[in-house]
Amino acid sequence: MNGIPTVPIYGIPVSKLDLKETVSYLVKVVSSRQPHQIITANPIMVMSALESSAYMDIMTSAELVVPDGTGVVWAAERVGNPVKERVAGFDLLHELLRVGESYKWKVYLLGSTPEVIRETARRLQMQYPGIIIAGFRDGYFGPEEDEEVVSAIVSTEPDILFVARGADSQEPWIAKYKSRLAVPIMMGVGGSFDVISGKSRRAPKAFQKLRIEWLYRLLKEPTRYRRMLALPKFALKVLRDKDKVTKP
Ligand code: UDP
Repeated sequence: MNGIPTVPIYGIPVSKLDLKETVSYLVKVVSSRQPHQIITANPIMVMSALESSAYMDIMTSAELVVPDGTGVVWAAERVGNPVKERVAGFDLLHELLRVGESYKWKVYLLGSTPEVIRETARRLQMQYPGIIIAGFRDGYFGPEEDEEVVSAIVSTEPDILFVARGADSQEPWIAKYKSRLAVPIMMGVGGSFDVISGKSRRAPKAFQKLRIEWLYRLLKEPTRYRRMLALPKFALKVLRDKDKVTKP
């Protein structure tokens, strides 16, 4: 991954940069105009990659994979090759916008419902007046509309594209259109727009400190439990696999 220090977790190169270093790296990426897919990895995504070679290809061909899930941070520590810190997608989004203000970066926001995305665009513009919101649209469209959506994004020549459509579809969607989109920073942001717009809350600080943000989300949305079984499964697998974790 472009000279960045990484730790391999089941063949997925997870960046060891902290938040600040990640942002500095991405500032260089924007000036180079080189398309980058940034994946904010969590145990659910690693387990999906282990179950599907197509998803694994997406994870391994991303230009930057950051340790978003605490489970991923823990796994790196466990194999004796720790990352500096957790780099949460939500924090990275805000930090990029804060730093991007001085560069007048253009940002395209894609995903969530029409109301959520409109409110997200409004709030982000207020919070970061130096940022140019190049465009936005909701994430409820089928593959037959992909062409039109991609063209609309490309025509605004953004520096950053944030996509919030759920990890199952946002990462494959970005990967599929990566070379056409050719945006320097293309990143899936999951439920971030729901939080920014005020539709839902991020876990309270106490949950974040105790590293149990996942528990907060589970309590708020119990239907997530099926997907969340990936967490203990991932932990058990890492414990069992020992030094096999870092082997491809
Ligand atoms: N979403 C979307 N299109 C879809 C499905 C979901 O834009 O077809 C949006 C949804 O409105 C939400 C975001 O994707 O803002 C994340 O959804 P969810 O929390 O279900 O995904 P997760 O982050 O759990 O993968």
